[in-house]
Amino acid sequence: MRTLTRLLERFAAAPAAAENEAAAAAETPSAPPLPTRQVEGRREFHGLLWRPVLGVNDDEKLVVAARAGLPHCVRCERALTLAAGPRELWTCPSCGDSRPGSDADFFAAEAVIADDLREFISGHPDFRLAPTLSAPQRALA
Ligand SMILES: [Zn+2]
Repeated sequence: MRTLTRLLERFAAAPAAAENEAAAAAETPSAPPLPTRQVEGRREFHGLLWRPVLGVNDDEKLVVAARAGLPHCVRCERALTLAAGPRELWTCPSCGDSRPGSDADFFAAEAVIADDLREFISGHPDFRLAPTLSAPQRALA
């Protein structure tokens, strides 16, 4: 998870940094954070179960955040743990099923987020994606 989180943060921060700074500068510094509702999704991707979470602002009709979360075991629905070792291996603590890191890597997480964003927007056509989302997330959806 640490590796995945760092990868996601690195990828998300790099291309969108300039835009985020511009967006932050345009806002009033003392503005309180917008209230958000968490919308949990459920998607299978490459044999893993994901429960992506969107942060939604109902007043502004904006999707302000999106994260894939941890991959889960499709059989047990338990969150997989990343085992230490010579190669990255995600393992179910319940049934012991294991998956190579590539099944749960950055690209898988981004695909899960993109699918989840697409589904949410198609079901809520009056909502838009906020500039707080990373550029790749906004582009994918
Ligand atoms: Zn399992």
